[in-house]
Amino acid sequence: MDTACERGAEHTLLASFMAGQRDRAAAVTIGRATASDQELTAAMSAVMGMVQGADVVAIEATPSLEFVALLLGSLAAGCAVVPIPATARPSERRHILTDCAASLVYSTEETDGPPAGWPSWDELRGSGSGSGSARVGDASLVLYTSGTTGRPKGVSLSTSAIAGCLDALADAWSWTADDVLVHGLPLYHLHGLVLGVLGPLHIGSPLLHTVRAQPADYAAARGSLYFGVPTVWTRIARDESAARALAAARLLVSGSAALPVSTYEQLARLTGSPPVERYGMTETQITLSVRSDGDRRPGVVGVPLAGIEARVVDEDGDCVVSGQAAIGELHVRGPFLFDGYFGRPEETAASYTKDGWFRTGDAAMAGGDGNYRIVGRMTTDLIKTNGFRVGAGEVEDALLDHPAVHEAAVVGVPDEEQGQRIVAYVVLDGVSPDELRIHVQALLAKHKCPSEIRTLEALPRNAMGKILKHQLVT
Ligand code: AMP
Repeated sequence: MDTACERGAEHTLLASFMAGQRDRAAAVTIGRATASDQELTAAMSAVMGMVQGADVVAIEATPSLEFVALLLGSLAAGCAVVPIPATARPSERRHILTDCAASLVYSTEETDGPPAGWPSWDELRGSGSGSGSARVGDASLVLYTSGTTGRPKGVSLSTSAIAGCLDALADAWSWTADDVLVHGLPLYHLHGLVLGVLGPLHIGSPLLHTVRAQPADYAAARGSLYFGVPTVWTRIARDESAARALAAARLLVSGSAALPVSTYEQLARLTGSPPVERYGMTETQITLSVRSDGDRRPGVVGVPLAGIEARVVDEDGDCVVSGQAAIGELHVRGPFLFDGYFGRPEETAASYTKDGWFRTGDAAMAGGDGNYRIVGRMTTDLIKTNGFRVGAGEVEDALLDHPAVHEAAVVGVPDEEQGQRIVAYVVLDGVSPDELRIHVQALLAKHKCPSEIRTLEALPRNAMGKILKHQLVT
């Protein structure tokens, strides 16, 4: 498997920051704590001294300046950096630490207070004493995937691949040092960490991390560029005054899961500017996005980023159906895909086709205009019922169109007669399943209407707000 570097990518992560070309009083703000560029540089160089000689550094991904300093210093020292999800249970934590063979661990889990070796921000920013030159080019990030099937795998991303993706996003979103980025995402995924922390540091836009991702926090932050997952955007869309407070922002970006059409429309109405959707995976980073100057439509995740190629193939994998309004599996290739699953060369090779395309496992549709729509996972969201192929997302949007429906997840349940039966799980308030059925029948063709509507108190979700559908297909 050739790596991003061998493919000739020439992007250097954090080049301006490392060269000391920035001097902002508030480069990174997390909650109430703010760091200037000078303080971050001093803290980074203190950490470089601490991690010297370690190959793999695992760091508890808490929303804190200490975490940002440990991240920057470890990358600058040329280490492989593994963020540990703050929500990881002890067995998941053990799996990650063993699997990545961490040589140094900064974790807050083992003791009540900060354990020995976890320096405070005040110590770090005051103690930087230049410890060798930065080797960011040798460093990598190893992100453990949510692991809805099997144990989490480490996805290894080179820093040049990360820089390449961030540069392509800067181009797509006209993201510059004049922006102020706001989000409150967890810091152990591609979204919150790569786009949300390395992104602003690489591009030079100050970061305001709100710690919590509540509508009032986003509204109070007054940034120009906002990142959120659909659950966050849905909460904001339902809080009229918070949504209206975002009217001054330049760009609202949604990703990590499908943005419901109803949320898109409410946000567009309340803020005056429809959100842009982008699509990606930990393994591929962001590959498709609506451009800031592009055509915005609900349900559309945009066009391939500069340098990325995408195609949709039929189920047998041998016929390209892009542009034919047919659903198939999305394949991507380009210079900023991952280097491989950490220590798993066979699984890495199996994730590519023979001709070098990465199989995303997502069902998608590409229109003739080059814009893509994501239907969902091939395994759970492409429902084959009575000889029809139905995308779960379209049915979910019809359910969510009813104002009394708060959440919806649609799955295909094995059925002897129909192949799969469409079953909807909803969280609702003030409407009966029968009334909801009538609402959906008015919006969708008969074969797309759920055979059953089941109510729940809440849908099972992970920390990024993704619905855990495998827990529903019983
Ligand atoms: P992860 O690797 O945890 O970031 O998960 C990647 C998966 O999230 C993709 O394979 C998609 O199934 C889903 N995803 C990401 N962005 C979107 C989007 N804009 N619309 C629909 N699904 C998305």
